[in-house]
Amino acid sequence: MRAQRGTGVAPIRAVIAHHFTIDFEEYFQVSAFESRVPRSAWEHFESRIGGQVARLLELLSRHEARATFFVLGWLAERQADLVRTIARAGHEIASHGWDHARVTQQTPLQFRNSVRRTKDLLEEISGAPVLGFRAPNFSIVPGREWALDVLIEEGYQYDSSLFPVQRPGYGYPHGLPDPHWLERPAGRLAEIPPSTLRWYGLRLPAAGGAYFRLFPPSVVRAALRQCERRGVPGTFYIHPWELDPAQPRLDVAWLTRLRHYSGLRRTTRRLEGLLAEFRFTAVRDTVTLLREKAAAAALW
Ligand SMILES: [Zn+2]
Repeated sequence: MRAQRGTGVAPIRAVIAHHFTIDFEEYFQVSAFESRVPRSAWEHFESRIGGQVARLLELLSRHEARATFFVLGWLAERQADLVRTIARAGHEIASHGWDHARVTQQTPLQFRNSVRRTKDLLEEISGAPVLGFRAPNFSIVPGREWALDVLIEEGYQYDSSLFPVQRPGYGYPHGLPDPHWLERPAGRLAEIPPSTLRWYGLRLPAAGGAYFRLFPPSVVRAALRQCERRGVPGTFYIHPWELDPAQPRLDVAWLTRLRHYSGLRRTTRRLEGLLAEFRFTAVRDTVTLLREKAAAAALW
């Protein structure tokens, strides 16, 4: 149940607005499908994101929640009207790079071109500045911190790629779990890490996606409650295709199939529960606050 706002002694959950984030990509653009679906084949797949996003927008609107959509440039070029609709509904448009190439697959120059081209296009479509970036598959891993400098140089104000867990293929194990500033040679960047759950000395991924569909919903809820007790917003993420049980099934290895196609029927119901229980907003709201605080501190 949503706690009342504006009362003097409201419980802390009434004032913490978590981040609801969506990686805006099609069901066939998932990193784990790369070997099965080369980028050159993307044009030949049926687009399904319109229906999926309509469901998400309806859910968000009904629960008075705002979200951040991390949008692929490739897809924005083909779905400009949909991106405009999202922006007009009051949500934030941020960047997910051009073609879902992981940072670990790119040279610094390729990465720069990808984030520059995507930012330019999204700003042209949405009419608003693009402040944030999330790397495909959270692929800013130890040793690839140069990507953070490129983001700063290209005018980004925050990143949401450093997942402070150790997982096969991704993770930034020594990253901080809560929003913070990164001091880099190129300058300053706000980091908004996906949420984790502290559990008996371990830090477990609990930010959404497959963890949200396959584990009990109490895992994500507990992670957000822990954030509230620390007085900071948590960061949840979901993909549009996770709301679409009717999506075409690709012929992939069994473990990938399990991760991607299990629990699709319960996503919408679980999202209803989450949106009813917690307040959500876009990441830019937190980043604006962090910047204001930093500016005020600099005056002292
Ligand atoms: Zn992605």
